[in-house]
Amino acid sequence: MINLMNFNAASYNPQDATITVGGGIRNGSIYSALSKVNRSITHGRCPTVGAGGFLLGGGVGFDMRRHGIASDNLIATNVVLANGDIVTASANDHSDLFWAMRGGAGGNFGINTSFTLNTFPVDQSVEFQLGWSNVSNEFLEVYFKTFEAAPKELGSKVTLTPGLALEGQERPINVSVIGQYIGSSRDLKEILAPIYQQALPDEEVIQLMAYWNASSFLSEAGTPGYYQERSRFVNGPMPNAMIQAMREWLTRWPNAQGSGSIKFFQMGHETNALKPTDTAFVHRQSQWLSSIEITWTPGQTIPSRMLAHRWQDRFYRAITPLSGGGAYQNFPDPSLRDWATSYYGENLNRLMAIKAAVDPHQLFRYHQSIRPLK
Ligand SMILES: Cc1cc2nc3c(=O)[nH]c(=O)nc-3n(C[C@H](O)[C@H](O)[C@H](O)COP(=O)(O)OP(=O)(O)OC[C@H]3O[C@@H](n4cnc5c(N)ncnc54)[C@H](O)[C@@H]3O)c2cc1C
Repeated sequence: MINLMNFNAASYNPQDATITVGGGIRNGSIYSALSKVNRSITHGRCPTVGAGGFLLGGGVGFDMRRHGIASDNLIATNVVLANGDIVTASANDHSDLFWAMRGGAGGNFGINTSFTLNTFPVDQSVEFQLGWSNVSNEFLEVYFKTFEAAPKELGSKVTLTPGLALEGQERPINVSVIGQYIGSSRDLKEILAPIYQQALPDEEVIQLMAYWNASSFLSEAGTPGYYQERSRFVNGPMPNAMIQAMREWLTRWPNAQGSGSIKFFQMGHETNALKPTDTAFVHRQSQWLSSIEITWTPGQTIPSRMLAHRWQDRFYRAITPLSGGGAYQNFPDPSLRDWATSYYGENLNRLMAIKAAVDPHQLFRYHQSIRPLK
């Protein structure tokens, strides 16, 4: 374990509008540096997440449909290699390594002591939080179609949860979405009109705010918790068969302690602007990143936890063939057998060749680390 906590500086360069941050900085410290100059990078929801793991595995956030995933904003990184060499990887230097640093995931190729990223200007944004209870499949079809058709200025994350079942009735499905729109509240309402025609939300917050205030509103600071998520990218538009599978499995939530849900980060537009092989982040055809999540508490009984895990695994098995995509390397999934191809797809061989070149004896290794090509 190498503690990078003190590599936590952030310095903005007004000449070329880039920011250079230390390899151990947390996302929240980058945001506070960028908010002072009204600039941003594609950033996630959790300020306590480390920039190192976030950037090296891709980095998804509300701005990605406008500006690509976070690692698409990366222009250079300093790396300490297994043999002790210190190199700068960029498009011109150590370009193979630079390719691997954009989606090849942390802990695989060296120790990144700094990252330099392009930034973009920010001003105001409309943040929204909407909720509907007891939705139909027809509602969900319209929901996904409407968001898929939305302009790239809109970013969202939607959660579908099983509600409480009334005696003799099917368990209802509830929908809750949070997101950001760069534009006016009126335009946002117009974009969402087909969904409102299906059903008016039970919960509705739509407000224009300074960009960084909106980001704080959308952030997920929370207290540490216990959870496992199992992810799949959904290629192309949301298949109706997947909506049916979601209804089947959400209504079959086994009432374990803790919670079960499926979440979707909205991909599309600039996240798919590069080809799958342009960087190590291979997932370039997707409209949604799904994640089936279960949470539990330390006091929860083992049988109750096993019920939730079994539900999650069976739900995951049902949607995997329908989704068409791989799994997100930044949501490490210990129960994924084919993790290497799920995370890296057609880029796996090149990543293994780079591993063989820079770390043939696997100084950097863990359960799901990239193995050197033999
Ligand atoms: C609450 C929460 C919210 C999240 N939200 C999002 C989100 O909105 N979007 C998103 O894309 N992801 C999100 N994630 C996932 C997150 O991106 C990954 O968990 C990421 O790997 C965390 O990085 P870390 O550095 O904090 O973690 P760590 O566990 O410290 O690191 C992850 C891996 O990267 C390696 N690593 C870390 N820093 C470096 C470095 N400087 N050089 C080389 N290797 C390094 C570590 O060795 C380890 O193998 C979230 C995670 C949590 C827990």
